[in-house]
Amino acid sequence: MPDDRLVDLRSDTITRPTADMRRVIAEAEVGDDVYHDDPSVLALERRVADLLGKDDAMYVPSGTMSNQVAIRVHTEPGDVVLAAVDAHIHIHEMGAPYALSGVTMRFLDGRRGTFGPKAVAEAVPQPSPAVPASLYQPITLLCVENTHNAAGGAVWPPDQLSAVAAEGRRLRISTHMDGARLWNAAVASGTNEAALAAGYDTVSVCFSKGLGAPMGSALVGRQHLIDRGRRFKQMFGGGFRQAGLMAAAARYAVDHHRARLADDHANAARLAAGIAETPGLLIDTSAVETNMVYFDVLSMPAAEFVDRCSAHGVMVLPHSMSGVRAVTNLEVDARDIDRALVVMDKVASS
Ligand SMILES: *Cc1c(COP(=O)(O)O)cnc(C)c1O
Repeated sequence: MPDDRLVDLRSDTITRPTADMRRVIAEAEVGDDVYHDDPSVLALERRVADLLGKDDAMYVPSGTMSNQVAIRVHTEPGDVVLAAVDAHIHIHEMGAPYALSGVTMRFLDGRRGTFGPKAVAEAVPQPSPAVPASLYQPITLLCVENTHNAAGGAVWPPDQLSAVAAEGRRLRISTHMDGARLWNAAVASGTNEAALAAGYDTVSVCFSKGLGAPMGSALVGRQHLIDRGRRFKQMFGGGFRQAGLMAAAARYAVDHHRARLADDHANAARLAAGIAETPGLLIDTSAVETNMVYFDVLSMPAAEFVDRCSAHGVMVLPHSMSGVRAVTNLEVDARDIDRALVVMDKVASS
């Protein structure tokens, strides 16, 4: 392997389709997704619905659209949506809950993007004869994110996940899981996707992250919710015609790239262990649970560290003044990790 090969650890979205996946794309049968007659889209939707133990699934162009269709499905304008303070839905989706669904958000305290049923119960005021329900803005949706991106790919303990869903049911609030990396959560927790999804009304999963498909996500859930979601997919501009080309790649990724996420997790642990030994870098290795590695640079601003690593062919992202993010993915193997560590050590000590 030439030593000048790029090691791209910016994200697990940077992966390009493998040769086998390109063959599947080339040979995919297609129709018109807007008329619901694209066989490759229908096959993907069936496969993912079965995998998550739900009635139906709807293929959409992005995880953002999937989450935002879900919010629109579960709410009316003026409602409140509950989520962790640094939920992707809130910090990375361009204000869409406010702009597209007319809802406001309220945030739950917790640990690394997770919270317990008590935090949910405390956020929902209980009407009494003295304070009628009409004085409270209705809270109609609770969102969880698994794995939690901004918390560094943190995994929800499966018991806590189901306890929170049960609390939502008790309070008569709909529940949605942003499972962009549900596949990683399943591998890391040793609990299958259907078990993790159980109790949630809708779940969004991404094919374009660790699974390595070129694009697309699915919103998965009970039949009447997905039926209602189809209206908003179209409204938000998500009718994408011969989408079967991409759906076939997504289906291939679901069938062939899920188990190998364990390699990404092992490579992330290897990177974290190396960073812990590198003077000038600071990391909490116990916080590395899946494929994301967050660490701090002590000797220079994160942006400068990132630029200098990039000049040596190792690409990572700054996420704060001192914080850097590296994400392992299917284009990176253990030797690439070792090469990244050599570069990081050289840059951090210069
Ligand atoms: C990437 C991501 C999304 C959005 O997916 P896009 O396809 O990039 O729109 C949603 N939630 C989480 C947690 C993500 O990491």
